[in-house]
Amino acid sequence: MTSITCKAAVAWGPGEALVIEDVVLDPPNPLEIRIKVVCTSLCRSDITQWESKAIALFPRIFGHEASGLFIKKLHTRMHARRRDFISIKLCGIISQGKEGKNIQGIGSYGYVSLQILHHFGYAKIVESIGEGVTEFEKGDHVLTLFTGECMTCKHCSSGKSNMCQVLGLERKGVMHSDQKTRFSFKGKPVYHYCAVSSFSEYTVVHSGCAVKINSNAPLEKICLLSCGVAAGLGAAWNVANISKGSTVVIFGLGTVGLSVAQGAKLRGAARIIGVDTNAEKYDKGKSFGVTEFINPDDCNEPVQQVIKRITDGGADYSFECIGDTDMVTTALQSCCDGWGVTVTLGVPKTKPEITAHYGLLLSGKTLKGSLFGGWKPKSEIPLLVDMYQRKEIQIDEFVTHDLSFMDINKAFELMRAGKCLRCVIHMPN
Ligand SMILES: [Zn+2]
Ligand SMILES: [Zn+2]
Repeated sequence: MTSITCKAAVAWGPGEALVIEDVVLDPPNPLEIRIKVVCTSLCRSDITQWESKAIALFPRIFGHEASGLFIKKLHTRMHARRRDFISIKLCGIISQGKEGKNIQGIGSYGYVSLQILHHFGYAKIVESIGEGVTEFEKGDHVLTLFTGECMTCKHCSSGKSNMCQVLGLERKGVMHSDQKTRFSFKGKPVYHYCAVSSFSEYTVVHSGCAVKINSNAPLEKICLLSCGVAAGLGAAWNVANISKGSTVVIFGLGTVGLSVAQGAKLRGAARIIGVDTNAEKYDKGKSFGVTEFINPDDCNEPVQQVIKRITDGGADYSFECIGDTDMVTTALQSCCDGWGVTVTLGVPKTKPEITAHYGLLLSGKTLKGSLFGGWKPKSEIPLLVDMYQRKEIQIDEFVTHDLSFMDINKAFELMRAGKCLRCVIHMPN
């Protein structure tokens, strides 16, 4: 295997428009794969990190919601082994796998049934792969995973956590295995983002950070399951475990917040109250299950007081999907004493510390957090692809714009202006 030259959208400095450059991409290391990206969408956290002057990892290639294809074929076929690395071409495709996981009813959807997947090997192999990769084969459709699953560490083995100790969220702009980059420009390293970097025609990822999906699933839609949509559904089902007939409040009606709404609706929540300062979000929200809308700018009293008044003391569940730690306190104040649960999902742009009066917890409320909705990504994300294909969950409605790779900066402009939910970027063929 040799290095290849491909086009990538390079960020040269915080907040600076991306520049399409010819970058060199190394071959995959052991247990890695090189993939061709088909589709990738822009997530709010790409923007947050791109704008941040606090973490100056530039030049850098962002992007972490993506689907792709394997490009090279291996000559051997083996049974799936854990902890493989692979390289793929990112596109918009993902993994599949699972005969036998017929999940009946969202209400019973939980770790017990999900655990089963853990023991399913991916039967096929392949690709332009690093040594030791056994689970992918040429033409496989894959989704990239910004937080991986090694299948063997304490957390992966626990059945309680997706915080993989080996392939967890990578924050230093390098690959997990050797702390180096695979991308370079004129001999200088170009940093990765979340060890995915999908704003490139090709990328290298660890085989534990990609998952095969059903090849019939549309890559230009299901790439949204790489982050935002899955995170919201998981927060509703895995983290909060919303019960039928409950009252739910969601702060922030972007893709993540609306995915929480969808998850709450499918669990049979009686009231789903959306809170957002953008009144245009209400119509969109209704299609995902939002039953009431509150614009804090229109209120004469703090929004938490409005919510407590109209819900007889507070909601059963509240979700912070904005990325504002002050709003976490507001969300906590908006749920009821005794059993109220607040789930925080947003990634804060500033002020990461949370402050709240201890009395909020003394009164029986619970504050919970999660990464990627608590999903064990390699084991469970293919289930969501299957659910989408059975029309049990909506994804298409989140895609507000389809853009060519050359127009990638337009996606950044739209998201910064609050004019989109998801922009899907289609890579060149
Ligand atoms: Zn692990
Ligand atoms: Zn994301």
